[in-house]
Amino acid sequence: MGSSMDDLRFGTRNKRGDWVPNGRAEIAPFWAWPPQLAKILSWLPGYFWPWNAFHMATTLAYWYWVIPSVETMRTLDWRWALWLYAVNAVGIFLMYGAIEFFYYIKRKQGTRFKYNAKFPADAPSDVFWFKSQNIDNVLRTYLFGIPMWTLVEVLMLWVFANGWARWLNLSEHPIYFAILLLLTPAIHEVNFFIIHRTIHIPILYKWIHSIHHNSINPSPWSSLSMHPVETFLYHGVAFWHLIIPSNPIVALFQLHMAGYGAVNGHIGFEKLELTDDRALESHAYLHYLHHKYFEVNYGGDGLIPLDKWFGTWHDGSKEGEAQMEARFEKRRAKMNAQKSA
Ligand SMILES: [Zn+2]
Ligand SMILES: [Zn+2]
Repeated sequence: MGSSMDDLRFGTRNKRGDWVPNGRAEIAPFWAWPPQLAKILSWLPGYFWPWNAFHMATTLAYWYWVIPSVETMRTLDWRWALWLYAVNAVGIFLMYGAIEFFYYIKRKQGTRFKYNAKFPADAPSDVFWFKSQNIDNVLRTYLFGIPMWTLVEVLMLWVFANGWARWLNLSEHPIYFAILLLLTPAIHEVNFFIIHRTIHIPILYKWIHSIHHNSINPSPWSSLSMHPVETFLYHGVAFWHLIIPSNPIVALFQLHMAGYGAVNGHIGFEKLELTDDRALESHAYLHYLHHKYFEVNYGGDGLIPLDKWFGTWHDGSKEGEAQMEARFEKRRAKMNAQKSA
């Protein structure tokens, strides 16, 4: 057994044992003026590696081994829909299940780099089916999350197969596709921000989004544990590619970024230790803060800094915390004034 990583080199731990990363989250560096070329260059590898490269790898594997022939997909049929559901179900079981198994069941790194010192399995709660966050989240993933993902997938492929959307040939438009591929994470972020901000409107929150927020201390299985309406809209990001000139492979990549990529915000650890000196960055902190405080960070990493523009950005620093508190305080004062008027 080698020594483990020292998480206190990267953050601090409070009395409760919750670990907080040092520094602050920054929006994508190309928004800065004047342009900071060095910063952009050092940021760029993380844009592709490892998560988006992983999503591209699963996309290509699907395209060559899983997705039925165009001929088959011209007709809606349960057989190929169930086949896609089965593959998605197994894929998610392997990916989410692996993270759950090593970091939440075996707890191979204990609470190192863990934002919340508690593990959901140790905290039964009435808000969950069978009082268990894990059982509840797994069931909702397989009953609603993956079925709605698959529904979007089937509809998207069916439209392409019938020639109802512009299907551009990759090799004929290489530059357009390079740009489109670079933009897919931005499309993801915009789509996610719009639907997510919308379902935080109180009435929709109560009806739809509160289910996802039952997990205040999210773990991998919380990722797709959503109301069916939410998961349909979330995966519906793939429909953007029926409107813009695109190709089913790019649309599938967009879909995998949503389905497989949902885990990122819900990993619960800043880093997943792989070996004694290598770790995988989760990019989970901003969305962890959303689960903790609800009304901050509706979007993602600040690739398109919508939260910054709408004043809901919490960068994880003390100043970010103070700004959020001030905003909440202002709203409370306004509500009290309305009540007494
Ligand atoms: Zn979430
Ligand atoms: Zn939310």
